[in-house]
Amino acid sequence: MTELFVDSYDPRRWAAAWSPRRPLEVREARRASNRRRLAGLGAGGAIVLAGVLAAWLARPDGGATADAVVASGGDAAAEAAPAAETVRRTLLLANAGELEGALTGFGIDAVTAAKVAAEVRPALAPQGEVRAVLEVTREGGALRFYRLQASNADSSGAAVRLGEDGAFETTRLAAQVSEKITVMHGIMDGDSFYTSAVAIGVPNSLISPFAKALAFDFDFQREVAAGDAFELAYAQSVNAAGEAQGAARLLYAAMTTQAKSAAVYRFTPPSGEEGWYDASGRTVAKSLMRTPVDGARITSKFGMRFHPVLHYTRLHGGVDFAAPIGTPIYAAAAGTVTSASPSACAGNMVIISHANGMETRYFHLVRYAEGLHAGQQVPQGFTIGYVGTTGTCTTGPHLHYEIHVNGEKIDPLSFQPDPSESKALDAAQMREFEQVRDRIDVSRAQGAA
Ligand SMILES: [Zn+2]
Repeated sequence: MTELFVDSYDPRRWAAAWSPRRPLEVREARRASNRRRLAGLGAGGAIVLAGVLAAWLARPDGGATADAVVASGGDAAAEAAPAAETVRRTLLLANAGELEGALTGFGIDAVTAAKVAAEVRPALAPQGEVRAVLEVTREGGALRFYRLQASNADSSGAAVRLGEDGAFETTRLAAQVSEKITVMHGIMDGDSFYTSAVAIGVPNSLISPFAKALAFDFDFQREVAAGDAFELAYAQSVNAAGEAQGAARLLYAAMTTQAKSAAVYRFTPPSGEEGWYDASGRTVAKSLMRTPVDGARITSKFGMRFHPVLHYTRLHGGVDFAAPIGTPIYAAAAGTVTSASPSACAGNMVIISHANGMETRYFHLVRYAEGLHAGQQVPQGFTIGYVGTTGTCTTGPHLHYEIHVNGEKIDPLSFQPDPSESKALDAAQMREFEQVRDRIDVSRAQGAA
């Protein structure tokens, strides 16, 4: 029997060859196999359990042949069935506070569980799900802690291992977050961009940014129709387990209609402001948004008309966009709020003055954006208030929008910004832009394949 044990290199024969007179050899064999297991961490198939389970599942990891045969008893039954093994389990905990209880729930003694939890706790976020990979050795009915890896959603965390000398060895784990780019294509239905985008699964948070990115190229009410095609690309950070981290970020927006097509890339020039650029690197942020409200319907254009409330014909000095009460209204361009106070006819009104002698006015707001005040600097697209029906000159919820250039009212829908205002990138910025653009285009090409 003893000779068989010594001569055999097949671990499956060790248990059969084991003799109570050779306990030291057995222990050495187990140590060696544990070292091999440590080297091969991550290869085994783990079972994911939600929450804390009191029951210990008996299935050992795949490929643990060497571990499963180390016997600790001397009788024939113990020799026939594997009596000691290393078992690995993956747990999902609601937060780091559940860790200690999970360890004791699996049969780790309370003192060890408290020590192990204390070792990894500083590396774990106080809130948020924790993924714990626990390895124990089971020998005769007794469980012995071997290793724990506990990680946050972004894969940062700590691993603690019981060393050869019985002391804990703790290693910090770095976050592993990568960026995934998703490309989507859709066709406009007869209803709205919103419903068309939702139909292909565009994340809700990207719908308004998409419309804003293309707001300088398309009037979504008048120039986009059923059957027109759109495309978008967005980035999402994912952790090592492939789970989304943080908010999705729109990178690319494109629209093709019967009349024209436009595609814009998000880019932040070095020492510059983030913005949307066409493929040749020209900024698409034109001086004024023609439609400073989402999803609105034009109910009255600029020009002479019979006023339904005042009952005489006069110049309608702006455009009326009908939209539900509470729809956000955006600053049409960067500027300074010169007035945010009510007037009789206009109701709650905002006036913003912009560069080059331009001014925009917004009437009938149900309320102002919180904290909005005269003298405040606002960027383009900043929410200044919400659609309402305040003032005496209104018959229903809408935004009355005016553009004044050097004191003269002009038609927002026919307003043409000066092309010289479209800033071009310099050579160094252009090289960076091309890298950003090409990365997105590669993803688009892969998505199309
Ligand atoms: Zn009006």
